[in-house]
Amino acid sequence: MPPVRRTTVQYGFEPGGVWVGQGCPRPLHTDEMHVSLNTLALIQSPRLVAYGDATVQPLLCTTLHSSASRFLLNAENGDYARLTERDCGCVM
Ligand SMILES: [Zn+2]
Repeated sequence: MPPVRRTTVQYGFEPGGVWVGQGCPRPLHTDEMHVSLNTLALIQSPRLVAYGDATVQPLLCTTLHSSASRFLLNAENGDYARLTERDCGCVM
C-alpha cells in the first residue's frame, strides 16, 4: 500500500505579511490549523451580528516576534475562527 500523502494550507494576511499558522495534518475539521504562538498572540472578541442573536468570533492579532515587519496590537483582519486546544498527535 502506498503511503498516504496529505497537503496542508498556510494562513496569513496582509498588510505586514503576518503568518498565522499552518493546517494540521490530522485535523478534526477540514480547516483546523496550528497557530504560531511563538510569533503571534490571538484572542477572540465575540460579537453579536447585526441581525438575530448569533455571535461571531473575530480574532484579534498581536505580533510578538521582533522580526515581524509591523507591530500589530489587537488587529482585526475580518476573519473569524474558534480557538481551541487539543492534542492532535501530529508532529507540529
Ligand atoms: Zn496537528
